[in-house]
Amino acid sequence: MGCDDCNPQIPSDPMPVPSPASIGRTCTVVWFRDDLRISDNPALDAAVRRGRPVVAVYVLDETSDGIRPLGGAARWWLHHSLGRLGDRLRELGVPLVLRRGAALASLTDLVKSTGATAVTWNRRYGSAEIAVDTAVKTALANSGVQVESFAANLLHEPWTLKPTSGPHYKVFTAFWKAARSSGPPRPPLPTPGGTEPADRDIPSDALEDWQLLPRQPDWSTGLAATWTPGEDGARERLGCFLDQDLPGYTRLRDRPDHAATSMVSPHLRFGEISPFQVWQAALARGDESGVDKFLSEIGWREFSWHLLFHNPGLASTNLNPRFDRFPWRDDDDGLDAWQGGRTGYPIVDAGMRQLWTTGWMHNRVRMIAASFLIKDLMIDWRRGEAWFWDTLVDADAANNPASWQWVAGSGADAAPFFRIFNPTLQGRKFDPNGAYVRRWIPEIADLPVSLVHEPWKVTTGDAGGYPAPVVDHAVARRRALDAFKGLKD
Ligand SMILES: Cc1cc2nc3c(=O)[nH]c(=O)nc-3n(C[C@H](O)[C@H](O)[C@H](O)COP(=O)(O)OP(=O)(O)OC[C@H]3O[C@@H](n4cnc5c(N)ncnc54)[C@H](O)[C@@H]3O)c2cc1C
Repeated sequence: MGCDDCNPQIPSDPMPVPSPASIGRTCTVVWFRDDLRISDNPALDAAVRRGRPVVAVYVLDETSDGIRPLGGAARWWLHHSLGRLGDRLRELGVPLVLRRGAALASLTDLVKSTGATAVTWNRRYGSAEIAVDTAVKTALANSGVQVESFAANLLHEPWTLKPTSGPHYKVFTAFWKAARSSGPPRPPLPTPGGTEPADRDIPSDALEDWQLLPRQPDWSTGLAATWTPGEDGARERLGCFLDQDLPGYTRLRDRPDHAATSMVSPHLRFGEISPFQVWQAALARGDESGVDKFLSEIGWREFSWHLLFHNPGLASTNLNPRFDRFPWRDDDDGLDAWQGGRTGYPIVDAGMRQLWTTGWMHNRVRMIAASFLIKDLMIDWRRGEAWFWDTLVDADAANNPASWQWVAGSGADAAPFFRIFNPTLQGRKFDPNGAYVRRWIPEIADLPVSLVHEPWKVTTGDAGGYPAPVVDHAVARRRALDAFKGLKD
């Protein structure tokens, strides 16, 4: 397939402006990025409305300056999501072209070879991505190609909400209050109708050749058993949550032993569902208990992107520079035990094993596991952030570093450093019967409730070979507080 009547000659530089005769019959390119859906997709909608053949493109850009390469779990997700997107687009008569390389070269090449007269996309908010998009826009516009970009993946673009003082919001409650009082989000757009089919093959990479899936070893069995990437999977996941779990969300969202949260995070991350769709679907449930709380979590996502836009170094630089002097420990054995779920603290290890197996971890446990790495082991939060980036299917350029800095105490509106989670008490409180830790740590599955969060107290046998704690929490806590006090001094 290809665009109907696109210039069949690959033109030489400079890129020619199509002649008036051909403009009427040329195609539109839609550049897909973190918006792998066909419904509520303003860029696709606008392209289809032009009434010409549409060509979709996804560029795997691992070379442009500053673009963070995807982690392993996200690559797995991307492979499947692109497969599904390609199927959905084909039903609309839109071919999905895959290109690998720098976005600027890939886009200009595609536009040249198809003779497209317009390119549309939905905006991104990371600084490297903005730089790439600006360069592409300039190059295309200089060649006479019409470029249109849209707001699609955030309810509030990061520059739209401004505090009365200071350059941007640093406190969530003020941010969310401003967001809630700025008027309701727009209703989602419907799925566009079909387009005039294109009639020529456009060269495309084969998805398999990108080798996004893990081999030797293939560690993705647990991911495949847990998730259905793609727009249909997203809609189904959200629908199940709203039908079954929304009423109990406020009460149970902190309980990892219950499936009480939506698990839509990877779908939102890849834009298989838009926040506008989530918002409307949740509000349609009326004033069911849980709606406000759930929407405020969507608000935390908005806040993280607000922070990233205004602090492009969020994944590498402490927002609070006092933490630049923090005496992080170089502890490879500790990091190894944490990553492998062998710290000897069941709630931490269960979370890390859930992460490794499914590519996802419950939010409460993310906080406990992150606190353990940062405060009990005193390992730099950036090393934890990098591990999550590699292993989470929802690894998000804003949510991940913002949350790590929140736990570390170095971020905006962050938990104070001195609030150090006791992993045993957290386990007892949020997994009171031990169902969660038993599920992920078979070694301790038979322990009684009284011991399941403290297996080191087992006096008979060896708790199934489960390791002893890598640190004594009470000692580690004092060490961390002393280090923090040193910062203040
Ligand atoms: C150390 C750490 C790292 C994290 N890394 C990520 C990440 O890479 N990607 C990611 O999407 N979330 C991250 N989070 C936030 C949160 O843990 C996940 O969004 C949530 O667990 C996803 O599960 P859910 O979809 O069932 O959430 P729900 O409770 O159903 O919430 C609905 C949606 O709201 C958003 N959301 C919920 N909580 C938060 C939060 N605290 N901050 C920002 N957005 C939130 C997510 O998009 C989520 O899908 C991290 C949290 C911590 C403590």
